[in-house]
Amino acid sequence: MAENLLEVRNLVVNVEDKEILHNINLDIKPGETHVLMGPNGAGKSTLGYALMGNPKYTVKGGSINFAGEDITKLAVDKRAKAGLFLSFQNPLEVPGISLSSFLKTALEQQRGVRIKAWDFRKELRQAMALLQMDLNTGFSGGEKKKAEILQLLMLNPKLAILDETDSGLDVDAVKIVSQGIKTFQEHRQGALLIITHNTKILDALHVDHTHILAQGKIIKNAGPELVDEVSKNGFEKFLQNKE
Ligand code: ADP
Ligand code: MG
Repeated sequence: MAENLLEVRNLVVNVEDKEILHNINLDIKPGETHVLMGPNGAGKSTLGYALMGNPKYTVKGGSINFAGEDITKLAVDKRAKAGLFLSFQNPLEVPGISLSSFLKTALEQQRGVRIKAWDFRKELRQAMALLQMDLNTGFSGGEKKKAEILQLLMLNPKLAILDETDSGLDVDAVKIVSQGIKTFQEHRQGALLIITHNTKILDALHVDHTHILAQGKIIKNAGPELVDEVSKNGFEKFLQNKE
């Protein structure tokens, strides 16, 4: 069996003195796709932020190992360099900065070296071709999510945490995002932790493991079949089983 890429052990996370996550355990192997579901306010985003090292989310107990290294106390930029990626539920707009210069900066930060404009264009073109994106049309505000997927392909992380990348999208956009994630699975072979409400995004994707988080605890671990069950019957059954 392959070594774990991510090993979360008894993780306790506080936000402003309130314990939000209680003793979370999670193992992800290289290349695996995990889905994290659960009701609103369960702590799903909190887990994403804590894994990425957002300083607002304080680790009070337990540990996070990633790619053979204890990253529990590592700063965000070091985690990004180690191969972690977190997409944002509500991506920030950076006024006055074009997507390509944003991507170039992100890549340079990740690699810790300057990238020649020529080389960057080449990589950008290659990723856009994989996503069947048109370099000339650029990105309107409504296409921020696509930009995120492009960033995912370019940064090529070992583990990408996608926090509701599908929220607020129309049917066509969900398809494009889903196709983009599939392209990442097939062409980059990175692992994924997909946090989602909308099981539509998973229809075309290969899923290895599923987890349900409720009230700051993982209350169910299962295989891909749980996606269908939750999309048919919701979480209620699992919430009751907990008592
Ligand atoms: P989910 O993503 O599953 O909907 P969240 O992780 O966003 O859940 O929230 C879990 C709990 O943590 C909620 O009770 C929320 O109010 C609290 N919380 C999360 N982030 C913050 C924050 N930045 N400031 C204050 N409370 C927060
Ligand atoms: Mg959330």
